[in-house]
Amino acid sequence: MIAPTELFALDTLLTEEEREIRTTVRRVCDREIRPHVARWFEDGELPARELARTLGSVGVLGMHLDGYGCAGMGAVSYGLACLELEAADSGLRSLVSVQGSLAMYAIWKYGSEDQKQEWLPAMAAGERIGCFGLTEPDFGSDPSGMRTTAKREGGDWVLNGTKMWITNGSVSDVAVVWARTDEGVRGFLVPAGTPGFTLNDVKHKISLRASVTSELVLDGVRLPAEAMLPGARGLSGPLGCLNEARFGIVFGSMGAALDCLETTLAYAGDREVFARPLASFQLTQEKLADMALELGKGLLLAVHLGRLKEAGTLTPEQVSAGKLNNVREALEIARKCRTLLGANGVTLEYPVIRHSVNLESVLTYEGTSEIHTLVLGKALTGIGAFS
Ligand SMILES: Cc1cc2nc3c(=O)[nH]c(=O)nc-3n(C[C@H](O)[C@H](O)[C@H](O)COP(=O)(O)OP(=O)(O)OC[C@H]3O[C@@H](n4cnc5c(N)ncnc54)[C@H](O)[C@@H]3O)c2cc1C
Repeated sequence: MIAPTELFALDTLLTEEEREIRTTVRRVCDREIRPHVARWFEDGELPARELARTLGSVGVLGMHLDGYGCAGMGAVSYGLACLELEAADSGLRSLVSVQGSLAMYAIWKYGSEDQKQEWLPAMAAGERIGCFGLTEPDFGSDPSGMRTTAKREGGDWVLNGTKMWITNGSVSDVAVVWARTDEGVRGFLVPAGTPGFTLNDVKHKISLRASVTSELVLDGVRLPAEAMLPGARGLSGPLGCLNEARFGIVFGSMGAALDCLETTLAYAGDREVFARPLASFQLTQEKLADMALELGKGLLLAVHLGRLKEAGTLTPEQVSAGKLNNVREALEIARKCRTLLGANGVTLEYPVIRHSVNLESVLTYEGTSEIHTLVLGKALTGIGAFS
């Protein structure tokens, strides 16, 4: 018997350091996350502060950024960390993606030196948590319609508006908020506790329950001039951050799929139906083989995109291709695994249904599958079909 990843000799594409990082993150997940995550999911509660400190102590927060206490690792190392985190739960990978690739990246890429010094070292250590507010109740796929405004009043900025579906929202120390100004869309750092800034958690989610999702309300929030990110002008600012986070999903989604497949292989070997192991039936083996193929192809694609990112040549269209393919296939794998687990497939005793419903959110956030399809359509035809 071989492990699904051995079929494609994936490890031969990784350096020793990358394999070590993967092992370190896996151990943390085995120790700190896996024993508890089904309960967090069931209760809809996450000890985010504690987890952020744990994850900060192993260097995964903003690990692909340089300086300011960040680990400065390569893209494939970062991807493998995302894979291991999402093999535990997509909610945990979301916490890390939003912290490192959205909030920290925005400050690292577009922030002033003072903003970087103030926030990045503490965020890398997990002592402070960040969130990223782009989506609004009426504008998700089309952020250009955003209604949140930032207006100059003397030397200050005054922000008004509502952001919706914001990961890490109510546990954040700082929100990166994108708002319309007279000079186009700009980004602002809004510290928790600023008067007029309130956060309400989204309740009754049945996906990503081990993840905090909040509404951010900005009602006359007054900020000093220095709260604006000087380096981001227009929508290319937030879209640049999303591209970073999507890259993590290319790997992460395959982590959820791998956990489903490994769980199912073990289950199918043990479970007897009609006096034979479930794994011995041809229909089962066809499902297992198909899933191993899609998983292997998705992992190869992820590593390939990671190498392109490290070489500095990765394009947004390539990231769209990776996100679209790997999330779609991960969801298919999770659904197929669920069938093989029979009734056990619908309980939290096994991780499969949890991964499956989590992946429904992953399919939607960071650009829906339809939007990434349109990105590829435009790249192939030269014709935009978004509106
Ligand atoms: C759990 C969770 C966490 C999230 N975390 C964050 C976060 O931290 N920060 C943040 O800013 N946002 C976050 N989001 C928001 C997420 O990015 C948006 O939900 C997403 O962009 C889709 O927007 P929408 O929900 O408004 O759907 P809509 O834009 O209303 O889309 C509805 C449907 O229409 C389709 N559609 C839209 N435009 C087109 C078109 N041109 N052609 C064809 N079909 C189209 C979409 O693909 C989708 O199927 C999160 C969402 C979830 C579920």
